[in-house]
Amino acid sequence: MHELALARSLTELVLEVAAKHDAQRISAAVVEIGDLAGVDSQSLEFGFQVASQGTRAQGCQLLFRRAPLRVACESCAAEGEGDLERPGCPRCGGERVRVVSGRQLRLVSVDVDDGAEESEHA
Ligand SMILES: [Zn+2]
Repeated sequence: MHELALARSLTELVLEVAAKHDAQRISAAVVEIGDLAGVDSQSLEFGFQVASQGTRAQGCQLLFRRAPLRVACESCAAEGEGDLERPGCPRCGGERVRVVSGRQLRLVSVDVDDGAEESEHA
């Protein structure tokens, strides 16, 4: 179950942000999961609860955001939302497409206890 390993990395990331902002507590974190990431959010949430036990991230609520699969066609150069059931170009139906996004598991933002939302890139 790779969600446990992911949950550990996620906890570390959240704690890094907390340390950077000298936050004693983290109320929530927004996590983006791509359609192709193959991550089960429930398992990830469970793993996070375990991994964050006894840290500043304990009790932090995870908010999941879905990142749709986006593909770009190599024939007609169209870019759009891909269909997991029917892979191919959303415009011309061509099979030569590349994945633009949808594989990512990303920490989008973290709410620290002063109520301000801080981006990980801030
Ligand atoms: Zn196309």
